[in-house]
Amino acid sequence: MKRNSQTLSQDLLQWFYENKRQMPWRETNDPYKIWLSEVMLQQTQVATVINYYNRFIERFPTIESLAKTPIDEVRKYWEGLGYYSRIKNFYEAVQTVHKDFNGQVPNDPKQFLNLKGVGPYTQGAVMSIAFNHPLPAVDGNVYRVYSRLDNDAFDIASAKARLHFEEKVLEDMPEAAGDFNEALMELGAVICTPKKPLCMLCPVQQHCESFEVGNVLERPVKLKKIKKRVEHYDVYLIENDGELLIERRPDGLLASMFQFPMFDTETHISNVESQLDMSLTLFNEPLMTLKHQFTHLTWHLTVYIAHTNDKKKASQHWMSREEKSQLTFPTSMNKIYERYLSSL
Ligand code: SF4
Repeated sequence: MKRNSQTLSQDLLQWFYENKRQMPWRETNDPYKIWLSEVMLQQTQVATVINYYNRFIERFPTIESLAKTPIDEVRKYWEGLGYYSRIKNFYEAVQTVHKDFNGQVPNDPKQFLNLKGVGPYTQGAVMSIAFNHPLPAVDGNVYRVYSRLDNDAFDIASAKARLHFEEKVLEDMPEAAGDFNEALMELGAVICTPKKPLCMLCPVQQHCESFEVGNVLERPVKLKKIKKRVEHYDVYLIENDGELLIERRPDGLLASMFQFPMFDTETHISNVESQLDMSLTLFNEPLMTLKHQFTHLTWHLTVYIAHTNDKKKASQHWMSREEKSQLTFPTSMNKIYERYLSSL
């Protein structure tokens, strides 16, 4: 199903104009008040924000009234809303507007974005709602709505998600940019909700691919971040008569490949000697350190050169330089070996 931008935005806007919830910041064109509401609404429910917003605006009806009040008093009007860096940044930004813009919120998206605490979402929301600049305002609601409209499996946790969904919004954006942004957020908040979307009441159902396919609850896709395990090892390049001691890796990661003996960094050298059954002379300064990334794991390797004069045993594998190219080593071990050769 190919979205028709024009009919989609028409259907959505018509629904919005007829059904939008009443909110005090929807009754005004004052950019300061619209901006304040957007800051308050970040991380906070509409129902909670309404009281705080009304109290705040009653006490600080203008940029000037806020800018001239000490921050400690202003904070009192935020108490209980949480995420206090929001009011600190907003207050600083308002000081800038008061000082550098004659108390007028700049009607210029770039200048507005430069204000403290203003990110792309706040920029898009305030600039489009207050001044109708055609900028997207993409939040979690919009990710969800567009993931479903386009049956789009783009990972909303990825760093590129914002740009990806902003492009979609821009494709559909009608002249009434601010209303369109608000309508998308409203749709996400009251109809296209995360767990129980009201598809039967949805004004854009006929444009919705996920509804057609029947996988609405599988969108949006949010992949879990894999937390990498971190392991630290000491690696020993043990020389004996021009050869290096190597061993096969056990089952599991890089199974059966060769490596230079490696031990957890907690392992004391005397334990290394007893486990290898040889006495070692260790060059104390490490040859190198190396960080190696696997999908689920990071190795931090510290590499030491050691020497032994013990008689070689049949159970040990001593590798000559000639033999190296015939054996398979993991990348990390190859890097270590190259560095070793260049140090000779
Ligand atoms: Fe969301 Fe359902 Fe509407 Fe599609 S039809 S946009 S899934 S509410």
